[in-house]
Amino acid sequence: STEEPWRPFNRSRVYMADLESTLHYSLRVELAAHTVIRRQALVSLKKYISVLTKYFPGRPVVMNLLKAVNSWLQDQTGNEISYDALREILDNSAQSPDTALPDGVRWVGCQGSQPHLRRYPCGVWTLFHVLTVQAKKIGGTDPKEVLSAMRNYVRYFFGCKPCAEHFENMASESLGEVNKFSSGVLWLWLRHNQVNSRIAGALSEDPNFPKIQWPSPEMCPSCHTVKANGEHWWNYEVVYPFLLSYFSRDRILTDYLE
Ligand code: FAD
Repeated sequence: STEEPWRPFNRSRVYMADLESTLHYSLRVELAAHTVIRRQALVSLKKYISVLTKYFPGRPVVMNLLKAVNSWLQDQTGNEISYDALREILDNSAQSPDTALPDGVRWVGCQGSQPHLRRYPCGVWTLFHVLTVQAKKIGGTDPKEVLSAMRNYVRYFFGCKPCAEHFENMASESLGEVNKFSSGVLWLWLRHNQVNSRIAGALSEDPNFPKIQWPSPEMCPSCHTVKANGEHWWNYEVVYPFLLSYFSRDRILTDYLE
């Protein structure tokens, strides 16, 4: 195969290369599947880019690109835009030297043992966790802002349609209960574990990265309590600060960036 060489990485860290690769894929590949973006899809795209502009913990050049796209998008007052027009903004903005989003993907923590495993979906989860944690730290006004933005992005644009349907079911069932930033961070963690348990053992599972109830006892011993009868409990009071630290911007590694 034409595979790139494996990049050694630390399995218990978040990499900026994965977050930037996710943005590249989302903005230049996934959205490109839509010739025209209209009505609710356009509203969702505006919200998604606005949330990225506020909370993505990116390098200055990447933040400048997001800001340029955001200000162009918020100025579009019609009912629809063409993807080509958006693409032009992405490409043109990137011509100024202080504005860029690397063109192409470079997966690190989201590398898969096969080309069809992990990668973009792994990047999307990672990005979403990072954004909920950043929103909590920066302190927006609406604790559902980030989650609603990602819910709608997934609904209108995420390429895996069965995934989008499952996620929408979970969101319509329980997103309404989120009324604090802390419960938003925990909501996404819980739902991600729910997905992990539903798809454990499926063909989409990378044998080198088995689906587990995350974080493992090795990563966070005190996140877990096992009762005398063998019943497992999560210690939310430990899991929550663990998530805040694991996905915090100061811990994101910048190895392998262009
Ligand atoms: P991922 O599940 O992608 O997780 C990425 C990384 O996040 C892990 O390596 C780990 O470090 C960390 N992590 C794992 N669990 C948690 C957690 N609970 N909280 C915080 N961090 C965690 N695939 C399907 O087959 N069916 C579906 O219905 C489906 N729905 C999806 C819905 C969404 C919104 C997304 C983004 C993806 C969905 N996928 C679905 C894809 C699937 O969840 C995985 O992303 C994919 O199989 C790649 O798995 P992975 O091993 O890279 O780990």
